[in-house]
Formats: sequence, C-alpha cells, structure tokens
Amino acid sequence: MKLLRRNAALLVAIVVFAARTAAADDIRVMTSGAFTAAYLELRPQFERGITDKIVTAATSMGVGADSIPNRIAHGEAVDVVIMADESLRQLIKDGFILGDSRVELARSGIGIAVRTGTPKPDISSVDALKRTLLQAKSIAYSASVSGRYFTTELVQRLGIADQVLPKSHQIDRERVGAVVARGEAEIGFQQISELLPEPGVAFVGPLPADVQRVTVFSAGVAARSTHAETARALIRFLAAPAAAGVVTKTGMEPFVAVVPVLSQAADYTVPFPPFHLAGNLYFVGSKGLANYLITTPQGHILINSDLAANVPMIRASVEKLGFKFSDIKILLISHAHFDHDAGSAALITATGAKYMVMDADVPVVESGGKEDFQYGTENLYPPVKVDRVLHDGDEVKLGGATLVAHLTPGHTKGCTTWTMRVDEAGKSYNVVIVGSPNVNPGYKLVNNARYPQIASDYEKMFRVLKSLPCDIFLGAHGSYFDMEDKYATSKGSAPGAFVDPTGYAAFVAERERAFRAELAKQQAGSARR
Ligand SMILES: [Zn+2]
Repeated sequence: MKLLRRNAALLVAIVVFAARTAAADDIRVMTSGAFTAAYLELRPQFERGITDKIVTAATSMGVGADSIPNRIAHGEAVDVVIMADESLRQLIKDGFILGDSRVELARSGIGIAVRTGTPKPDISSVDALKRTLLQAKSIAYSASVSGRYFTTELVQRLGIADQVLPKSHQIDRERVGAVVARGEAEIGFQQISELLPEPGVAFVGPLPADVQRVTVFSAGVAARSTHAETARALIRFLAAPAAAGVVTKTGMEPFVAVVPVLSQAADYTVPFPPFHLAGNLYFVGSKGLANYLITTPQGHILINSDLAANVPMIRASVEKLGFKFSDIKILLISHAHFDHDAGSAALITATGAKYMVMDADVPVVESGGKEDFQYGTENLYPPVKVDRVLHDGDEVKLGGATLVAHLTPGHTKGCTTWTMRVDEAGKSYNVVIVGSPNVNPGYKLVNNARYPQIASDYEKMFRVLKSLPCDIFLGAHGSYFDMEDKYATSKGSAPGAFVDPTGYAAFVAERERAFRAELAKQQAGSARR
C-alpha cells in the first residue's frame, strides 16, 4: 500500500492542477443490483483498513446515457464495478474491465413483494404464480436482469404475455419496492435482496423453483483504474468468507456453487416451524434440510449449517423457540456435502461457534468441497477451518449434554451419525441422527480410484447403523424419517411419533437393499467389460 500511496500523492498534484472534483486517492465504485445492499454495509469495514477513501459513484444501473456501461464508456473515472455477471462480462469484452479481475461474489433469486398490510397472494406453485399475475391490477419490475427475465421470458413461458404486459411497468429511477410501498403497483417483481430491505413492502416469497432465475453478481477492476491493487483488495474482501454473513442477511447466497442451488431441491430453503423433539433437543431446520439444536445452560450445539441461504432461517427458528443464536457454541455436521455445510462460514461468522468435524471429512470442509471424492469441482462453498478433528466414537460435551460421533462412511468418507440420550417426562430415549446411507447418482462403488474402499465403507456403515439402539429416529434430511407426517401427528406432544424404532430398522434395511442392488449392478457391469 506504501508504493500505492506515493503514486497516489503524485497523482493528487496532477489532479488538483486539473481542478477535477474527484480526489486521486478516491477508490470509485459503481454497483448495481442485488449485491448493492451487502456492499454498502461492508464498505466501512474495508475503508477502516486503508488510507484511501471509497467513493460510491453509482448504486443502480441507470438507463440510457446515465447507465453504468455508458458512463464507463464515456471515460468517467471508476475503479471497481459490481453488477450482474452477464453485464460485467460484456464490459470485459468491450475492454472496459480487466478480464482477470472478475470475481463472482454471490447469487440471487427473484421474488415478489406487496404493500405492507395487503394480503399476500399465493405464488407457491407455477399455476398459483400464473393466477396471481393474471389477477393483479398492476405489476412493477426493474430495468435490470429480473425485469428483462419477466418481460421477455417468464410471461411468454406462462402464456400470459398479452394479458400481463399491458398492466406491467418498468421502474427506472427508483427501487421497485418504493413504487409498491406507495401503492402505485400491486405487485413488485425484483431480486429478493433488493426487495428485503425496502420499507413499506412485505416479501411474499421467491418464485417457484421451476421458474426461478438465479443471477450471479460479480465484481471487476476497470481497465483504466489508477488504484488497481486496492481495487483488487476490495473485491477480495467482498468475496471473503468473513463477508458471507452480511451477504446472506441481504437475501443472497455468498460464493458460487456451480450447481444452481436455488433450483436444485425446491424444499431445501422452504421454512418449517421449529419444534421441540424431546428433552433439550429441538428441530430448527427447513422442509428439506434437517438441523438440530441441543440446548444446555452453557450454550448450545447445532447440527448442520445447510446452504448459506438457510442460515437466517435457522436463526429465526432458534429465536422463535426462545433461545439466542449467539449462544450456539459448537457446530457439527452430518457429512461434508454442501447441503449440510455450505452455510458454516456464515454461521460461524455470526455465532463464533467452534467447528467440529469427523477426521475424513476435514479435508473436504477445509477446501470448500474441492477435496470431495465425487464432486470436487461442483457444489463448492466457502472453506472453513475446523477447530476440533473428531474420530470414530469421540464424544462432544457441553453443559451436561453428550453427543457421540459414529463414523458411518460411504456417502462421504467422514459421514457421521450422531447419537445422544434425552429425558422427557421421566423417560429416557436413545436418539439416532443418521448421517446418510444413500448411494448418490453417479457414485462408483467399483474401481473408484478416488475412493477405493467405498463399497466396504458402505458395508461398515450399515453394520454400525444396525448396531445402534434407537428410540427417536432422526436424520440429515427430514425425508429419511417422514418428518412432516410425524410433525403433523405429534403436534404439541414431545417426542410423539418421533419415537419410531421400527421405522428406523425398516429404513436402514431398505437402504441396505438399495445399496446391495446398486453394487451388484455395478459389479456385473464391470465384469462384462
Ligand atoms: Zn450428502
């Protein structure tokens, strides 16, 4: 930074002479779209660490001559540009942004909002969304990516362009939410992260997964930047795991998983009511991803962090049960797959929890998924340093609670099944939280160079699962143990239908049969070759 300061000082003289308004050691940032809210919140933190001043030259795309690409094309000074990735790539093609400086910061889906106090329409399915759009008196959409998607793709796909477009209006000079808040449009269609902070509007929800459109937001350094090093440092800062908490809070998913997470499993990010299971054990997950909170007088243990987008939902669930999110002292996982650990960076940033992971999953967690034997280049997430490496049979203790880590490998090398005992109404129960017994599509059980012992590991896992005493049957996904049905039938009475030793034995037996069938199929296939 020293050298940079000297250059900057030299430039100050030149610029003052030229009577320009911007000081030469200003870092000029233009940002548009969903990442803007996170940038504005993170900026002061970065600014404290540098001697230069950051000037935010634009916070929206603008239109026509005022648009960011136009301002840059006309030579307006800028160092860092943050915008939808497709627009940034165009600026790189046109030579205005350095191609090697592009960093993907976050991804965002599209949602719908209405004026606070008005009834929320149903958008829970594609048909419901279609009806809602047809019935709305007026719709406001933005001039950026989400608006283009709405007018040129979505309404055509739904076959309602002729009815919907005439009552829809593009909002150019302010946020869509502001127009909705004044009652000038009934429905606002916009990036979720731009709707969430808007006062006077109520967020209805994300688009159904089948018609969701995820936009990637990226940052790059301007080709004519005079502060390229500081500009790159700012981008690194915005992309760092430490920024993930703020990014998540603004309704985005930090970092880029190669697989489109938002559309991958529709129920992963669908909220589910938190509830008491038994004793000090609570469910705080979503419809598709299971999280367990074990409370103690000395703080709490949480199992699984899910996707980064789930972290605010986990927090809301913990608080709804009357506990403090910041009291989570220990974070554990079922196994090192993104749907159980991609949110760990954000969760640890927010709570300061210690991360404890089974030995064979540690390299995967600490490489952000790159060391996974099957995925490695997809489903990546922010790497996180593990505080305590666990081994088969290790105990995790806090405030009188004890969890036992059972190595149940195969699905991942360090896949972990957690057991504990809970007392409820004078009775004691054995709890089993299954890591995963599943053979994923594409898994090679025969001649797997990256995981030679995979088949014998699955065998070991089934032996372990069959040996565990189980009263309360739980797992990494609610679907393992029919969470929704059991919740419905046992509402209010813990542990209710979750006491299910028969269901546990049947589940393990069925999964073992599925594994053996797949193994036989792959062995036959490799013998034929
Ligand atoms: Zn998995």
